Amino acid sequence: LHDRDGKIWMDGQLVDWRDAKIHVLTHTLHYGCGAFEGVRAYDTVNGTAIFRLQEHTQRLFNSAKILRMKIPFTQEQVNDAQREVVKANNLKSAYIRPLIWIGSEKLGVSPKGNQVHLMVAAWSWGAYLGEEGMKRGIRVKTSSYTRHHVNITMTQAKTVSNYTNSILANMEATDEGYDEALLLDASGFVSEGAGENLFVIKNGVVYTPDLSAGALNGITRNTIFSICQDLGLKLVEKRITRDEVYICDEAFFTGTAAEVTPIRELDRVEIGSGSRGPITEQIQTAFFDIVNGRNPKYASWLTAV
Ligand code: PMP
Repeated sequence: LHDRDGKIWMDGQLVDWRDAKIHVLTHTLHYGCGAFEGVRAYDTVNGTAIFRLQEHTQRLFNSAKILRMKIPFTQEQVNDAQREVVKANNLKSAYIRPLIWIGSEKLGVSPKGNQVHLMVAAWSWGAYLGEEGMKRGIRVKTSSYTRHHVNITMTQAKTVSNYTNSILANMEATDEGYDEALLLDASGFVSEGAGENLFVIKNGVVYTPDLSAGALNGITRNTIFSICQDLGLKLVEKRITRDEVYICDEAFFTGTAAEVTPIRELDRVEIGSGSRGPITEQIQTAFFDIVNGRNPKYASWLTAV
């Protein structure tokens, strides 16, 4: 990913892709205190637009606040940086990655006195869990790793260090031939995927774990809430057990990267008919209509680049 043409926005300037470098004594590289976002721009019917840009930027600032980091730019500037980077790389659609980190002035656990930096990169990224998975559903394994407890590394911040746990869970699941991991919280209730929120459907009602299970407050998750309302589907946030997932009718993951990915199997137990369920397909279609600019009701969620 690093050896290519293009531009990356770094601390207020567009720099050549290959020159977007940091020092090995960067504080965040040693202690993991940093935060990022994952945002997508779509090639909509009205041209390239970023989906829910303000919400993603707000979450980045929330993550920074939780981590006691002060971003040396305004939200407006961070929004502009994301649009600029998509434009500068001539991308029609893109995955956008803003990241904040602590500089290399000094080491030691306390980051005080170090500068906070921000970069934004963008590149093409297709279906995160595969095109095939979008149609047929993916195979998921309950992880032997527990999702962070809400009072450990802070689950509402999209922190760099939270992802060690996601990496372990994802590697374990994929090493065993599954597509993705499902993590339970410290009490054994369903939390989320390694990089996705979970939804299950039973008797026409849509359920998702409430945030006390430590899942990230996903922006796609929130989009699904609106879609359910539009489709007349009841949506309930509650504690969910893994066996409730085994016996549900349909299940799917959501995320900026994963979009709406159906789940056909958990721990070799077939979910529903073992393929993408009909309500999941309806929700997925509504989602892609919104992000691609085909639903005027949500035009304000799309920011032209
Ligand atoms: N949970 C985790 C751990 C994630 O990494 C992501 C992706 N950002 C999500 C949930 C989904 O969040 P969003 O819909 O905002 O991308």
